[in-house]
Amino acid sequence: MLGGLVMVSTIVFGWITAQQLENDVRNTLRESLQTQATILQQLALPLLENGQIATEAQVEQLARGIDHRITLINVQGKVLADNRESAGLMEDHSSRPEIVDARAHGVGTSERHSQTVRQTMLYVALRIDREPKGFIRIAMPLEIIQSQLSELRSRIFLSALLITTVFLIIGFLLARRVTRPLVEITDTAEQIAMGRYGLRLPGSQRDEIGKLSAAMNELASETETRIHDLTSSCNQLATILAGLTEGVIAVDMDSTILHINDAAQKMLSVDAQYLQLAQLRDLPPAAELTQSTQSCLQERISLHISIKVDERNIDVLIAPLDGLDNQVIGAIIVLQDITEMLHLEKVRSDFVANASHELKTPISAIRGLVETIIDDSSMDKSVLTTFLGRIQNQAIRLDTIVQDLIRLSRFDAQDTIRRDSNVNLSEIIRAVYKAKLEDAADSGVDLMLDIPSDSIVIQGESEALDQMVSNLVDNAIKYCGDDGKVELRLSRRGQMACIEVKDNGIGIPKEDQQRIFERFYRVDRGRSREQGGTGLGLSIVKHVVGSHHGEVTVRSGLDKGTVFEVRIPSTLVAVSE
Ligand code: ADP
Repeated sequence: MLGGLVMVSTIVFGWITAQQLENDVRNTLRESLQTQATILQQLALPLLENGQIATEAQVEQLARGIDHRITLINVQGKVLADNRESAGLMEDHSSRPEIVDARAHGVGTSERHSQTVRQTMLYVALRIDREPKGFIRIAMPLEIIQSQLSELRSRIFLSALLITTVFLIIGFLLARRVTRPLVEITDTAEQIAMGRYGLRLPGSQRDEIGKLSAAMNELASETETRIHDLTSSCNQLATILAGLTEGVIAVDMDSTILHINDAAQKMLSVDAQYLQLAQLRDLPPAAELTQSTQSCLQERISLHISIKVDERNIDVLIAPLDGLDNQVIGAIIVLQDITEMLHLEKVRSDFVANASHELKTPISAIRGLVETIIDDSSMDKSVLTTFLGRIQNQAIRLDTIVQDLIRLSRFDAQDTIRRDSNVNLSEIIRAVYKAKLEDAADSGVDLMLDIPSDSIVIQGESEALDQMVSNLVDNAIKYCGDDGKVELRLSRRGQMACIEVKDNGIGIPKEDQQRIFERFYRVDRGRSREQGGTGLGLSIVKHVVGSHHGEVTVRSGLDKGTVFEVRIPSTLVAVSE
């Protein structure tokens, strides 16, 4: 484009110059021909005075030393002499433009094709004012100067071409020098935009390009720092979100899921891969979540709802999410699985109801008995003794319940069980065995002991462990039929200490086996009470075992007896007896 412009302007300039030169050459030629004509007019006068067509010799004399065509014309236009043609054969020349001009102004010029010499000629005619008047005309072919002029033109054209080429080469080199750093900057900027924030431009120049490179480098380093900060903030946020026990879902205004943390995925039982750009309506339970989120987004208010997913109760808080300009840009949904909390709540309220009921029964009995004694002052002594005996039994029962409740509340707070001392489990088992032998005998039960010769030591609290084994042995004796047999066994299985309490008693129905560890749960309430049970024994067992990082299981069949098995991690300290 620029090259074309340069070329056109050079050609135009050359053309104007050539034109000017041509004009100058013509004028010079004209002047030269006019001078020659002025000189010749003296020689021509005699021929004019003669008035006859000049002889060959006269013509030769007139044109001596002159290369051009010379024509002598009288005032009427008759050609008297011509050094190129025979004057007698030439027609009247009075109407030739140069003659018409010369007649009027003294000098006339003309450029035209000569029929006589068949060439384009430059004519200069001079009016001879001395008598007898006439015209002397000198003509020269224009072809010579035209060929010179066309050579000049082609030289100008070639020079224009050369200048343009040189200009273009210099221009290209200059442009390359200027644009190369710009191209480099553009390339680097594109790569930075594509994420290669570590790239930098050399930028050693002091000119504008250097300043631009420095500005670009600063921008890149600023962007790199910002991206780094943003990434670490995002990572921190992602780590925090991933670590939350609450489920968190972020959605945009179209309810498209922007983020869902692990806890939320688990609560709603959804697969992370499937959630790529999923909609809220794709999540279970779609209806409640979508509807409430829509209301939250439209009305800009926080909402609190409860949903149920796979029998789990989930508490949902939906709050609008504000953007920079205080516009709502989406919503945050926080999910909390409250199933366990609700269960604990129920257990607690059941416990209070059960405990009140358990305590109320002996208190009511005692109150009734005492009122009867007070009302009947003449009561027979033997009846009174029976009543007082009953009151004593109820008081003992009350005491047992309260003792169990105190134990349970102590073991409930697991921290209160100290597990920092080595406890010889073999000794505890042996002690419980000895303590329960009498009770067993009273109940007609044969109590047996089976322990290894090496002592088994665990980390724990002896009082709690003693209570746990006692409760299991008490139950085995209580729920044994006639000819009952109870085996108390201690063994080591791998790194676990294993305590088994086996009886051949009434057994526990399958459906009750999981519930017997609940507080106040009894299979046969009447029988338990009869036996002095409180319904808290196995709850205490479960707590003590749990606080020693162990587990308790039950195997039982109705009328086939029951085996309680307790496994507690052992420190593997074996002491030979
Ligand atoms: P309780 O004071 O009533 O014995 P527990 O918590 O110790 O309370 O036991 C809960 C219930 O489990 C008992 O009421 C009884 O129905 C059942 N149970 C416990 N141990 C045995 C066993 N060895 N044989 C049969 N039933 C048992």
